[in-house]
Amino acid sequence: MSPVGRAPAFVADAMLGRLAKALRMLGYDASYRRDASDEEIRLTALRERRVVLTRDREIAATGLPIRVVLVEGDRVADQLRHVAGVLGLDPGAVVPFSRCLLCNAPVVQVERDALRDAVPPYVFATQRRFARCPSCGRVYWAATHVERARRWLGDALGAAGTGGGCVVRKNVLVTGRPGVGKTTLVRAAVARLGAGAMGFVTAEIREGGERVGFSIAALDGPSGVLARVGLDSPYQVGRYGVNRADLERVGVPALERAVAGARLIVMDEIGRMELCSEAFQRAVHRALDSPVPVLATVQDRSNEFLDAVRARPDAVLVRITETDRDAALWRVVGLLDGLLSRPPAGGGA
Ligand SMILES: [Zn+2]
Repeated sequence: MSPVGRAPAFVADAMLGRLAKALRMLGYDASYRRDASDEEIRLTALRERRVVLTRDREIAATGLPIRVVLVEGDRVADQLRHVAGVLGLDPGAVVPFSRCLLCNAPVVQVERDALRDAVPPYVFATQRRFARCPSCGRVYWAATHVERARRWLGDALGAAGTGGGCVVRKNVLVTGRPGVGKTTLVRAAVARLGAGAMGFVTAEIREGGERVGFSIAALDGPSGVLARVGLDSPYQVGRYGVNRADLERVGVPALERAVAGARLIVMDEIGRMELCSEAFQRAVHRALDSPVPVLATVQDRSNEFLDAVRARPDAVLVRITETDRDAALWRVVGLLDGLLSRPPAGGGA
């Protein structure tokens, strides 16, 4: 799937600078010039296939084959809700905070070390992820860019969700064939997003160079054996007997603690072995239903439970392949960065 390709681009009239900025925060390509004439706006829309956003009926009245939205509402949140409703915008199709708010250019991730002298020391010490606008040079980090905007954007889109068919897609599901690097991506994303992740991870158990089973570990402590070759169990997956007792002793409480106290819930992975337990399936759905953003890997198979998880309207599916691991990582980090609030003061370990 290529979700970014489906998102419309906009050109806003002189009255709608703040709306253009809000759209940029969401990740939409929103062109805006305070001094653009009506004719320039129409031609920009025609040449660049942009949707015109205007409050001016004269701009709206045009014989050109362009799409025009006559924006209603005086507050930006109302305007955003109106546009989202009219166009059926899907905020999951764009990466929040991926554009410069001043000049609309896509921002570029910058290595933290390169900015040691470019940002205040406190910011350098407390922030992990930085991006720079290649056009105007402005540097963005979560505190300036994300935190202030996140809540009211969520409010605006949450309200649009009740009327305009939009939901905030806060459950990021990574999928792909076995061995493609889903777990590596999740670990890298969690490291970049900072502290506050809770949930569970699974890993291979190897003996003498051979895989003999899988472990399950809560990110905040307890661990156990998820499956093992030769384990006597009514739940057999391939060569492995699944240990439902440890799944429910480690995995279920890890998710319950995460729903109660995490910034980010991690589930690596949701697959066949984990599905022998109804208690575990319920815990997965509670995590997905909670307001907390979720980063999960999902096995690339079809069954009733996995199909239902993937089909959730609040889920974004990121498929990872051998050739686009980096792009998938930045997409996941970008999506979650927009959803997460800043770690507590002094946090970010
Ligand atoms: Zn810029």
